[in-house]
Amino acid sequence: MYNMKDKVVLITGSGRGIGFGIAQKFAEMQAKTVILDINQEIVDKAVDELKKLDLMAYGYALDVTNSDLVETVLKQINQDLGSLDVLINNAGITKDNLLMRMKESEWDAVINVNLKGTYNCTQKICRYMMKQKSGVIINIASVIGIMGNAGQANYAASKGGIIALTKSTAKELASRNIRANAIAPGFIETDMTASLSPEVVESYAKAIPLGKMGQAEDIANLCLFLASDEAKYITGQTINVDGGLIM
Ligand code: NAP
Repeated sequence: MYNMKDKVVLITGSGRGIGFGIAQKFAEMQAKTVILDINQEIVDKAVDELKKLDLMAYGYALDVTNSDLVETVLKQINQDLGSLDVLINNAGITKDNLLMRMKESEWDAVINVNLKGTYNCTQKICRYMMKQKSGVIINIASVIGIMGNAGQANYAASKGGIIALTKSTAKELASRNIRANAIAPGFIETDMTASLSPEVVESYAKAIPLGKMGQAEDIANLCLFLASDEAKYITGQTINVDGGLIM
């Protein structure tokens, strides 16, 4: 079950947080796991952390907003590891503000990393996957992209955009045996949510039927399933991993 041995799996923004949890899961399954993150030091640290767990991973610095760099890094990974089998578009940022106060720079930054970054990586990798006649793309969206959130218009728009992009990707690439799905996490314990006050965390927990925040591993488990042949008839879907927050 879930045979990932030697599959080349690329995870953007995986130096820490959910991405790192996903990388650890694929490394445990003996995939050729590729840590991609904007900062080389964070990449090296993440690869070392996996090594300490007796796991193997490869690391490359990549800013997903830089489409020329995406092209160069993908070419390098393909040369180094022999194929590009699974892409997990996970890199994401928030710059929260009420819509009426939101600066253009806050809007642009979030759309650029979350949505354009996903487009950049998908567009550049699909050429390789089309040649291979196989591939899996998993986009990390958010429940906020489905339900919206006050103070997060930029983030909600970027994540809603990712869900729509996933459907178009799935339709365009299905005939080449490439599947694309999105995961919509709810509230997951990472640095991104660590800044929330205990009161806010408690109020979120009350709204979650399972009564607590999720862990990176909860997202990683679904990534593993969606990347595997066990999910071979699933494409174009958005699956919530949110403790039942939205139904
Ligand atoms: P995180 O802890 O902030 O980690 C995100 C990683 O992405 C960081 O290492 C960050 O590097 C990196 N990154 C930022 N800009 C980048 C760029 N331009 N190119 C490449 N990497 C970049 O976030 P997280 O909580 O793990 O979230 C991961 C994904 O899940 C995001 O897409 C997020 O929107 C989504 N999500 C999270 C939650 C949650 O509750 N945590 C809920 C729903 C969805 P720097 O730190 O150096 O900037």
